[in-house]
Amino acid sequence: MKYGILGDVHANLTALRAVLARFDAEGVTTVLSVGDIVGYGAAPRECIQLVRSVGALVVKGNHDAACVGELDLRYFNNYAREAMRWTQRIVSEEECAWLASLPFTLDLEHCSVGHGTYRRPELFDYVQSTTDADPSLDVLPTPVCFVGHTHVPVTCLRLRDDPLRTAYTTDTEIDLSESLRALVNVGSVGQPRDEDPRAAYAIFDPETQRVRIERVEYDIELEARRIRTAGLPPVLADRLFLGV
Ligand code: ZN
Repeated sequence: MKYGILGDVHANLTALRAVLARFDAEGVTTVLSVGDIVGYGAAPRECIQLVRSVGALVVKGNHDAACVGELDLRYFNNYAREAMRWTQRIVSEEECAWLASLPFTLDLEHCSVGHGTYRRPELFDYVQSTTDADPSLDVLPTPVCFVGHTHVPVTCLRLRDDPLRTAYTTDTEIDLSESLRALVNVGSVGQPRDEDPRAAYAIFDPETQRVRIERVEYDIELEARRIRTAGLPPVLADRLFLGV
């Protein structure tokens, strides 16, 4: 068994295809998604359909919630809001119903999944420090939870030999046998913000207890053109090249 975890996809079809091709090559058996399938990008319907077609287990992100009217668009910046109004016009009723049906968290045999945090996921808080991670680590029922939301890959964990302290690492190879609990941010497939424009995803092998954060190049020009052609704010195309 091998898990492939999709970071925030954000309607970026070319990036999503590149990551799913890697999942195939890696022999991934279960696809997980930390949510935010839609928003910012210009292929929300195609991404929803593709994620569903591979049988992914998906949690609800703040953009997914906003798309179905569960989150006030005032919380979004101007570009995000404009893209979300466009998305709401494009997505079908049936696709909206699917987004609305997504759970906030998932607890599986070997891991859990959330969007921003594991505890109080419906608040869509950001984990930007070990202090932010603590409430989730305190209540996590499994050894590891995969999240996204900040679009920056980073891991907060409690090591076996120092269980009272929450540590922080940007390592891309994480050995879970050394930790009691870990909150792994897998980065973003469709809109990375760590100044690396390549699509981000994670591979988790429960047998070896190892997580790898990986990157894959994709045709950014193609996706940027799709955003410009759709009439979305050009900044949403430009930022893809910079990974911001
Ligand atoms: Zn996001």
